[in-house]
Amino acid sequence: MLHAKSAQAKACAVERRRDSGILVNVRRRLILFMLLFLAAAAPVVPANAQTSQAPAAPAPEQAAPQTFGQAPVPAQPPAPPQHTLSVVVLDPAHGGADQGARGASGISESDVVLSFARLMRISLEAQGLRVILTRAANEDPSFDDRSKIVNAQRGQIFITLHVSSTGQPGTVRVYSEPPGIMPAAPRSGLIPWDRAQAGSIDLSRRLAELIQIQMAQRFRGSSDTPLVAPVRQLRTVAAPAVAIEISSVSVPDRGPLDQMAPAVADAVARAVAAFRIIYESGGK
Ligand SMILES: [Zn+2]
Repeated sequence: MLHAKSAQAKACAVERRRDSGILVNVRRRLILFMLLFLAAAAPVVPANAQTSQAPAAPAPEQAAPQTFGQAPVPAQPPAPPQHTLSVVVLDPAHGGADQGARGASGISESDVVLSFARLMRISLEAQGLRVILTRAANEDPSFDDRSKIVNAQRGQIFITLHVSSTGQPGTVRVYSEPPGIMPAAPRSGLIPWDRAQAGSIDLSRRLAELIQIQMAQRFRGSSDTPLVAPVRQLRTVAAPAVAIEISSVSVPDRGPLDQMAPAVADAVARAVAAFRIIYESGGK
């Protein structure tokens, strides 16, 4: 943040310098223009002399700014960033050698969450949102690498996807970071990396509530209120962030899980659409 402010101050200084340069130029050009006007208006200039005079004078004057004769426009401060929700970062958890939860039938969490994320992407992109996946295949980026992807965006939210090894199959739980676990982030200055979520606790909770309600409507047995729990991946995300956990890898084959995917994607898309209104009105 400090870096951003320094850059802004620097940009303003550059603008001021440019402005003063324009003002000096306008004065010089005004004098030049008046002299040229007087010269052009003189009736004694012979017609054949114009060809020898023409190349010397007008070229730089014609390039004079259109602001000639107008008051100079003061430098405007940069417009404040728009509070627009435009990016959803989806995080299929685990990957690579870390398969996450494994079912007795060989289902691996890392595979299932990737297919869920791909379907969610389609539903969210249909709303005009930009969607970024923290992994597109069977890679295993670190927690911090995933957080870096989210934190580099503007107007973003983050959803990490898991499949549990326990719990009633066919249900979905949504988590956000608990309040009070982390001290509030400082109002100015740099936010410590491992407290990045502190500034988004309330909005994360709102997002979790909206998603959980949608899940409860589609998956019988799901709670209609989300849970709070310290989730490692959420802690370092400086944006509204939730974890969605689908139950479970204990099903005999992937069929029942895959059947949940379209409804999960639709639930997330609808919840994000509702959250977008809250987010863009400043969390009201
Ligand atoms: Zn997991």
